[in-house]
Amino acid sequence: MKNSYDILIVGAGHAGAHTALTLRQLGFTGSIALLGEEPELPYERPPLSKEFLGGDKPFERLLIRPGSFWLERAVDVITGCRVVAIDPDAHTVRTAAGATLTYGRLVWATGGRARMLTCPGAQARGVRNLRTRADADWMQSELADVQRVVIIGGGYIGLEVAASLSAKGKHVTVLEARERVLARVAGEVLSRFYEAEHRGRGIEVRLDAMVEAIETYDDRAVGVRLEDGVILPAELIVVGVGIIPAVAPLVEAGVECADGVLIDEFARTRLPDVLAVGDCARHVNSFAGGAQIRVESVQNAVDMATTAARTLMGDLRPYHAVPWFWSTQYDLKLQTVGLSINYDQEVVRGDIATRSFSVIYLRQGRVIALDCVNNARDFAQGRALVANGAQIDPVILADPCIPLKEAMIHSIIAPA
Ligand SMILES: Cc1cc2nc3c(=O)[nH]c(=O)nc-3n(C[C@H](O)[C@H](O)[C@H](O)COP(=O)(O)OP(=O)(O)OC[C@H]3O[C@@H](n4cnc5c(N)ncnc54)[C@H](O)[C@@H]3O)c2cc1C
Repeated sequence: MKNSYDILIVGAGHAGAHTALTLRQLGFTGSIALLGEEPELPYERPPLSKEFLGGDKPFERLLIRPGSFWLERAVDVITGCRVVAIDPDAHTVRTAAGATLTYGRLVWATGGRARMLTCPGAQARGVRNLRTRADADWMQSELADVQRVVIIGGGYIGLEVAASLSAKGKHVTVLEARERVLARVAGEVLSRFYEAEHRGRGIEVRLDAMVEAIETYDDRAVGVRLEDGVILPAELIVVGVGIIPAVAPLVEAGVECADGVLIDEFARTRLPDVLAVGDCARHVNSFAGGAQIRVESVQNAVDMATTAARTLMGDLRPYHAVPWFWSTQYDLKLQTVGLSINYDQEVVRGDIATRSFSVIYLRQGRVIALDCVNNARDFAQGRALVANGAQIDPVILADPCIPLKEAMIHSIIAPA
């Protein structure tokens, strides 16, 4: 580790790694450090709740690039190193170990920390979030002694963990505080479909379920107590209730961070020479109707990293990537494009009973998002509808015999 870098990237996850590799692709020849607090080289998080937890993919296949790649491209990957403070005037950061590093430009790519429960018993052994390889390794090491699992949070990660662990023969209960699973990210049709799929495989899905406490014995979790008095015995409790952006050093440096650090369309924060990318970055997103949001996805991390790398090269191009995401549960591959925020109409395309269908979301007559279940064709063709804010008769959209690329012919294209 040198003590000065032209570009210092803090956070060696998807967004940080892609900023570094894109800079080299674009011909940047200055010094780059990619610094992260986890002990591993940059790796992909999505398999943690899917193939890796299920034991179907070894960790080596999660690496974004092998170690030799970073060496060959002269990117100093510094692992196990946490930045605790930034001095924007001096252009320095301080690490937890007390080192001071000077930067020409700084890229903040720290993602977020899994939100913890705050109820009694939340710290007991046997209660764990799933954000890192260490979390997944720990879960796997516990599984032999686990029969019953309670998952708190019916979002994508919670449901993926439910699928992975039920495939291993565990008795799984999913607790969701709201009236349906996936309520934050999808419409009711998709929520009900996934609830039925999970229940059909023996998973207990409890909705409107408010956790009061973790029951413990000898400081070890033995169950979950709900507000209505029900106690669900469990040896493993997985908490999947979202993340908190990791921006404390920026806040201490004087940046207002309500929910992540605000960046402009070129990934620049308000601090001079400081950019931010990925899960930690709040930005005005045209696919969210111009709202300031954070997007937690690989697509956002990678595309925003490209924007930031271009900005660092002096090639200012606004971030305007079409959002997309995927989730794998059992044999169901969900692919989403767009953001269904504030939709006012849901159109079901295809027969849900076939387990291959799409849900198309509209706002004021325009297509804003699609959720495609085992339907790669709609996902591929629907992208243009979202990108163009297409206005199409819902009757045409609902007809699976009309390919979406042909449906475009019937559209009045309007800027999104
Ligand atoms: C279990 C799971 C499943 C997922 N599945 C999907 C999926 O199917 N599809 C999809 O699109 N997305 C999925 N995601 C989301 C996706 O992984 C994230 O959106 C993406 O990883 C964000 O990348 P990032 O680089 O912004 O943040 P991260 O990947 O979180 O990387 C940030 C890194 O910065 C480090 N860091 C934080 N603070 C500091 C500090 N002060 N100093 C040094 N280092 C620091 C962190 O330790 C971390 O390694 C999933 C996430 C999880 C956890």
